[in-house]
Amino acid sequence: MKLHVLTLFPEMILQGLAPSIIGRAVEKNILSLEAVNIRDYTLNKHGKVDDYTYGGGAGMLMQAQPVFDAWKAVTGGKRVRTIYLTPQGIPFTQKMAKELAGEEELVFLCGHYEGIDERVLEEVVTDYVSIGDYVLTGGELPAMVMIDAVARLVPGVLGNETSAEDESFHNDLLEYPQYSRPEVWHEKKVPEVLLSGNHAKISKWRLEQSEARTLKFRPDLYEKYREKQHLIKRLSKDKRNNIHMMESLSRGRGEVLYSEGENLIIFDREAATCMMTAENEETARKLSEKLPPETKWVISNQNFVKEVLESLGYGLWGSCSQYLYTAKESLPVRYKEIRSLKTEDVPYVSSRYEHDTEEYIRERIQAGDMYGAFDHGRQIGFVGLHTEGSMGLLYVEEGYRRQGIAESLEAYCVNRCLEKSRTPYGHVMEGNTASEHLQEKLGFYKASRSVYWLSGGKG
Ligand code: SAM
Repeated sequence: MKLHVLTLFPEMILQGLAPSIIGRAVEKNILSLEAVNIRDYTLNKHGKVDDYTYGGGAGMLMQAQPVFDAWKAVTGGKRVRTIYLTPQGIPFTQKMAKELAGEEELVFLCGHYEGIDERVLEEVVTDYVSIGDYVLTGGELPAMVMIDAVARLVPGVLGNETSAEDESFHNDLLEYPQYSRPEVWHEKKVPEVLLSGNHAKISKWRLEQSEARTLKFRPDLYEKYREKQHLIKRLSKDKRNNIHMMESLSRGRGEVLYSEGENLIIFDREAATCMMTAENEETARKLSEKLPPETKWVISNQNFVKEVLESLGYGLWGSCSQYLYTAKESLPVRYKEIRSLKTEDVPYVSSRYEHDTEEYIRERIQAGDMYGAFDHGRQIGFVGLHTEGSMGLLYVEEGYRRQGIAESLEAYCVNRCLEKSRTPYGHVMEGNTASEHLQEKLGFYKASRSVYWLSGGKG
C-alpha cells in the first residue's frame, strides 16, 4: 500500500511513524510512506502558503495553489482516494479503517491555521474525515492516527494475522480483559478459566466479559449488538436453513441492510456478498432494489428469490446443499501432519485450486483461515473457510486420496471453528455425493432447503 501525506510539517509525520510497527512495515516494503511538503509547491517567492480569509474573521487560511500543485505532483492528477482531515468530517471508525485497508493508494491532506481554501478541497478531496469532536492545530496527528489504524490491518504489517478479529469494535463489542505473567500479582490471581486450556470455555468467558464491558462503557454500541443478537435468536428457530446468516452476524461480518419480518438482507461488505430472504415474490423484487451496487454474490435459500434475481440478470453459479455441525465436541483428527498455512504456501494452493484466484487464496491464508496436510513436510492437501464463513477449499493430491486425509482436514477445520465458538457449516454442490457422504460421516446435518449462489447483477 502506498501512503502519501501532504503537509506543512513532513518531519512530524516521518519522525512520528518511523519508530513504530508502521516504520518496520515500510522497511520491509509492505508499505511505502511519503511526506510531501506543501510549501515546496508555492509560487510565492517568500514561500508563503497562507493568506487572510475573504469576508473577514480571525486567522489565516491555506491557499488553493500550493495544495493543488502538491496533490497533482503526487497523483499525476489521477483520482486517487484523497482524505482531508477535518473536524467537520465523518467520524473515523474501525469499520472505516478496515475499508481503507483494502485500497492500494491513499493521500492524506493535512490542514493548518483556519483550514484550506474550499475551492481546492472541492477539486481533490474524496473523503472528509474527523478523528473526534475537538479541534486540533493541524491535520498531522489525525493523519498519523488514521495511518496507524489503517496500516496495521494491511496483511503482513502485524505478525499475528488473526488478532484483529478479537479486538475492540469487532462485532460491536469492546475487547475482554487480558492477563500476562505472573499468575499472581499484588495478590490478584488471573481468572481460573484462562489457565484451564479449554478453548471453548475461554471463548465463552471472554464473550461474557466483552458484553459486560460494552454495556458499562459503551451502551450505544451495546444496543447495536443486542439488536443483532435478537435477530440471530429469531433465525435460530430454523437453524439448519439459516446458519449462513446467523454465522455472518455472530462473527461480526454481516451488516443488517434491511430487516422486516421475513424480508431480510445481510451484507458482508468484505466478501461483497448479500444473504437474502423474502416473504414472497413481490417483496423479493422490491428487496433486490436495495442490494448495494458493489454486490458480487447473492446467497438465498428460497427458490422464488433465485427466480426473481435470475429474471433481473443475476446468473446462477450453483445450487448447493447446506450442511452444519451442531455438536460441541471436537472431532478426532487421524492424520497428524496438519497445520495452519502461511503466505509461502500460496503458490501450492493456488496452482491446485482452480475455482478461486491467487489473490483470494492469499487473503484467506493471511486471514488464518486455511489449513494444509503434509507428508514429511511436503504439502499434499488443504482445506479452509471462505470469506463469508462457509467451509470449503478442500483438495487432496491424487496419490493420497481415499486414505481419510480429506476427513482429517475437515475435522481439523471443524475443531478450529469450535475453538472460536463458531458453528461449522458448508455448502456442497448438489450432485457431489462424495462430499455429501463426507459431511454425513463427520456428523454434519443437512438443511431441508437448497442454497443458491447467484452472481453479477447491477455491479
Ligand atoms: N477552522 C476549522 C473548523 O472549524 O472546522 C478548524 C481548523 S483546525 C484549527 C486546523 C486543521 O487541523 C484542519 O484543517 C484539520 O486538517 C486539522 N484538524 C483539527 N481538528 C481535527 C479533527 N478533530 N479531526 C481531523 N482533523 C482535524
